[in-house]
Amino acid sequence: MDGIRLLATQGGITDEIMVFPSTVKKAGEKDDPYSLAFAIPNNTPGLKFLSRETFDYGKNSYDHPLGSKFEEGDTIVAFDNVLVPWDRIFILEDSTICNRAFAETNAVVHMTHQVVAKDIAKTEFLLGVVLTLMDSIGIDGFQHVKDKGTEIMLTLENMKSHLFRAEHNAKLDQWGVMTPDFEALNAARNWYPRVYPRLAEILRILGASGMMGIPSYDDFNSEEIGPILHRAMQGKNVEGFERVQIFRLAWDLTMSAFGSRQTHYEYYFFGDPVKMGMAYFDQYDKEKYKDMVKDFLKREDIARPSAIGNKLNV
Ligand SMILES: Cc1cc2nc3c(=O)[nH]c(=O)nc-3n(C[C@H](O)[C@H](O)[C@H](O)COP(=O)(O)OP(=O)(O)OC[C@H]3O[C@@H](n4cnc5c(N)ncnc54)[C@H](O)[C@@H]3O)c2cc1C
Repeated sequence: MDGIRLLATQGGITDEIMVFPSTVKKAGEKDDPYSLAFAIPNNTPGLKFLSRETFDYGKNSYDHPLGSKFEEGDTIVAFDNVLVPWDRIFILEDSTICNRAFAETNAVVHMTHQVVAKDIAKTEFLLGVVLTLMDSIGIDGFQHVKDKGTEIMLTLENMKSHLFRAEHNAKLDQWGVMTPDFEALNAARNWYPRVYPRLAEILRILGASGMMGIPSYDDFNSEEIGPILHRAMQGKNVEGFERVQIFRLAWDLTMSAFGSRQTHYEYYFFGDPVKMGMAYFDQYDKEKYKDMVKDFLKREDIARPSAIGNKLNV
């Protein structure tokens, strides 16, 4: 097998790579050559992982609280004459089986359940950082600051409601696997990429210059400037070393190379939100809402004015 897959998160640090089409194949036989799924060990001869530079700079966890621990890597995966053994192939050049696999295994439903649970945990953490930052510099009394906090809270509560509906309506599927309600999860996975960049933006707006005024651990450890910084960097409710620790966390969540990637990741990792949104529109059950409006308009029983003719042209 030859070819290149553009981006794989955690490529090269897992034991195996699984390759499968991420969308339903609609073009019939024309899609057959692109309908394949398999899993092989990462050290299979000819399989190459071209990793981007790391965003963990080997610094301590005060300087890079997130990047030093949670960098996950992204790679371009190249297949250079790779032999995929028959017993590792799930689907080969058959778009019908490929599409049935998506519909019948509920794989996307379970993937999305995990993603929405992650989104909630991430939003909880981000809200915690925003609230801690507000406390540290005493800005939570201002109207727009409260309102921005509320935006994050509403996002969190919305996502929790989606997850609750998904789990509350879960049913056993035809294989006996408890399967959440996809309607709720599908709405959540389409919505979150659109709001996450705004959550990161709120943290940046509230952090202001504090996001750049971030001396390092070594600076605080210096006999010469450490005590000056500790006093100069204080916030309303915290001392300098602790205030900078909070702002370094906020920076690493949204503005460092690690943080910027997080925002980019949340927007794109499940697919292009625009294309996903188009697919969402197409599959949405729209008729019942249009019928509701038709019924409403009919209820008044308004006769067409004779001046424009009694019969409809359409
Ligand atoms: C950090 C990160 C991690 C990722 N991890 C993984 C992973 O682990 N596994 C994996 O499989 N993928 C992964 N991806 C890839 C992800 O699925 C793609 O980025 C996503 O599907 C968008 O595709 P693309 O990057 O090729 O953008 P493109 O398709 O090149 O799109 C670029 C821009 O052009 C617009 N555009 C392109 N075509 C059209 C069109 N027909 N109509 C309208 N607009 C169009 C898009 O809206 C977008 O704004 C990751 C991406 C990122 C950023």
